[in-house]
Parts: sequence; C-alpha cells; structure tokens
Amino acid sequence: MRPLRRECVLCYSQDDLLRCGACKVARYCSREHQKEDWVMHKIFCKPVTKEQKSLDKEETALRAHPDRPFEEVVGQFWRFQPSRPYMLARSDFISALGDVNTYDSVACALDHSLDMLRLSLSDGMGVRKSVPSLFLRLGREQEAYDFIKGWAKYMQPDGGDNGMPPHTWFRDADVFEPVELAMDNYNFLNHALDLLLLKVKLLLDLLALQKSPFDMNSLLTTLVRNRIDELRASGLEALIEKVKDHIKLLCESLKSQNSHIWTVLFNPEANSATTACYSLGSMDEARVAVHISYPAWAEALESLDWVENFVQSN
Ligand SMILES: [Zn+2]
Ligand SMILES: [Zn+2]
Repeated sequence: MRPLRRECVLCYSQDDLLRCGACKVARYCSREHQKEDWVMHKIFCKPVTKEQKSLDKEETALRAHPDRPFEEVVGQFWRFQPSRPYMLARSDFISALGDVNTYDSVACALDHSLDMLRLSLSDGMGVRKSVPSLFLRLGREQEAYDFIKGWAKYMQPDGGDNGMPPHTWFRDADVFEPVELAMDNYNFLNHALDLLLLKVKLLLDLLALQKSPFDMNSLLTTLVRNRIDELRASGLEALIEKVKDHIKLLCESLKSQNSHIWTVLFNPEANSATTACYSLGSMDEARVAVHISYPAWAEALESLDWVENFVQSN
C-alpha cells in the first residue's frame, strides 16, 4: 500500500481534485475518473453516506434533549444514557470511513475520534486505541506521540486527572526521550505497537539521513523532514543508538504483554478474524490490536520488514 496523500483515487494525480459529493472523502482529478471508479467506490461510498445520515439523525435528536448535553454534559457523554445512540452512530460512521482508505477518510475518522474523546473522557467505546495509528497514517508523528504519552501518563497510578482529555496534556513532547512511560501499560497494546512503528520510521529516516545527508525525498516522516538541521546538530549517530535502544525495549515489552504479537503482525491475513471480547495476552487480543494498527504498518512496509528482520535476528 502507498502512503496516503490527497490524490485521485484512480490515477494518483494531485492536481485540481474534486471530491465525491456523497461521502466527501474520495477525490478525483476529473469526472471521467470518478465515473470510472464508481463500480469500486460505491461499495464504500454507500455505507459512509448511510451512516452519516443515521449520525445526523441521532445528533438532531440529542441536540433537542432538554438537558442540553452538548453544553452541559461535555466530557461525560457515555455516562449520560440518552447520548449513547448518538455515540454508537458516530462509531459506526467511523467504521464505515475505515473501509474507504483515503487521506480524507482517515482525516475524517481522526477528527470524529478526537471529538468523541472530548465528549466522553471515560471512552466507553475504546476510540483511543485507534487514534495514534490514524495520526501516523497522515504523517502527523508528533501528534501521535503526544497522544500516546498523554494516555500512558493518565494510566500511571499517580497520573492524575485534570478533567481535560489526556492527549491534550502534552504538546511537542520529545520523541527521543526514553520509552518507560509507555511500557507495561497493559490496556494499550495498540499504543505500544504504534509507538514501535513511529520509532522504526524515525530510525529509518535517521539512517537515510546519515547515508545521504541531502536527499530528503526518501524520508518517511514529516517529523524528521521538519527538523533536519536540529537533528543533525544534535548528532545523528547518538540519536540512532538511542532509538535502537528504544525499539529493543518496545519489542521486549510487546512480546511480554502478548506472546502472539509477532505471529499475528507478520501474518495478518492468516489472523484476520477479530472479536469484541478477549482476555489480555490472548491470540484474540493480538488480532484485534493488529487489525486496528495494520493499515499504518502496511503503508510503511519498509518499517514492517525492518521489525520482522530485527525480531528474527534477536
Ligand atoms: Zn485521475
Ligand atoms: Zn463517495
């Protein structure tokens, strides 16, 4: 799979794009290409449009509720029973978007997920699990890291709760700092998996930069691209060693959290069945985690290959 870009679904052109008027998350360079792709696109477009309509209906009903939840219950939506049909409809809409696989569908799913977390801090639907991989798919590595760090901190015994969503606690946190905070955090197999992907992408970029200091085309992350001078100044070799250590720790942590994780990550087709209920450490838990994070890995296959080699040689 190619990294996501705003481009024509059919020919990948990035110029003068128009959007599908129904789902609004697929772009085309021309009416001709839109028409040509319709046979395929309608399979995903129709469910998105249908779920959007259900969501609009639930939102209208909830906004008319005498308790004025959008003003008075923000942060507590899940505990406020009348909001549940709305939250479920929003989650179904996000699932439908998940099948479209365009830059816009991922960006839209991310916006809805973040807003669901704003409305319901307790996150009764587990929306937070999939957020970092959505950030990573959009090349927003810094925000992925801030999100993971916030929720990891929240889960610490002394994490504290200031009433704000944990992912707003940190901004521009240091991605090269040690990984302890996110370790052994048993509710967050996904976050550990996404952090691993982030670190491997950083490592590959640092290695590429070390090899050809002026070739920016091959860089995988926006983060390294935006900070080249600063990273060079702080010494690439030391950073590379640091990130390698973090990756080693994360791989050990993942393996100890769930011994099936590598089997599933490296053979996702053979392990595609997912279930809503699973016990910690089980094969099903690994399947669910990989199912959520895999698109981000599939769009960065060199990182997946690197981890597979690394795990097999250690
Ligand atoms: Zn086109
Ligand atoms: Zn559409």
